[in-house]
Amino acid sequence: MEYDQPLFRPPSEADSLILQATYGCSNNTCLFCGMYKMKKFRIRRFDDFKKDVLECAGTMPHTKRIFLADGDALVIKTSTLSKILRLLYAKFPKLERVTSYANPKNLLVKTMGELRLLREEGLDILYFGLESGNDDVLRKVDKGTTRAEMIEAGGKALEAGFPLSVTVLLGLGGAKMSEQHIADTASVCSEMNPTYVSALSLMLGPLEDYFAEQMGPDFRFLTKLELLREVRQLVDQLRTDGCIFRTNHASNYLPLKGVLAQDREKLLGTIDAALADPGRFLRPEFLRAL
Ligand code: SF4
Repeated sequence: MEYDQPLFRPPSEADSLILQATYGCSNNTCLFCGMYKMKKFRIRRFDDFKKDVLECAGTMPHTKRIFLADGDALVIKTSTLSKILRLLYAKFPKLERVTSYANPKNLLVKTMGELRLLREEGLDILYFGLESGNDDVLRKVDKGTTRAEMIEAGGKALEAGFPLSVTVLLGLGGAKMSEQHIADTASVCSEMNPTYVSALSLMLGPLEDYFAEQMGPDFRFLTKLELLREVRQLVDQLRTDGCIFRTNHASNYLPLKGVLAQDREKLLGTIDAALADPGRFLRPEFLRAL
């Protein structure tokens, strides 16, 4: 099997077999994201996908977890996704879960009946890029979705029974919008009450200058301590119940994991210790990665 590179997956899918059901991202507009800019979006033919499955079933028959790449496999029409799920569970007898990224539009287009069917057929965690709960930030970064649509889409996934992993992007609003970006992000997550909230820190690599230019003359990137203060504000303002909060992505300066609300004070204590002595607690710059 040959992958169409580059390949991406969430940190928690590090041990999963990655199978590409699509190439690229059906949205591909987000200003901060260069993951699939070099790929023309397309849904693979089922027969081509099946060839990869049969090859991997022969070489990796004990596979327990599969991540469906690329950027939003949920865009595939429900009847084909059902066929994909049935094929995977038939060919990998030990398979425990199949997961994928999902963007809000994918979820809004599908009916509740379709989503419930996919869940019953073994589609598991959906990784959902909220990025920000603030409409101005979402518009500026060309996310293509509003705060209200995010809440509706996330709520729909949860109602259909999916574990939902929501990603938020620290620093996305820059210095000027920092407080509102986090306050609105915390309020969207609190309203959804997803299974997981994961925070990533804005890292743009070669896109940095272009991003800053597009965000306007008064845009300023956050320093690492300001990013840490955003994490603090987020943890402090999230009103979720039983949601696993984590900053395990390599872009972050401080890896954290806890259940909110019960671990709030412990998490805040760790962040405060890092703010007081950043040299001791924060990941050095050279160890950060996208
Ligand atoms: S929807 Fe996700 S994968 Fe697609 S461009 Fe935006 S951030 Fe990147």
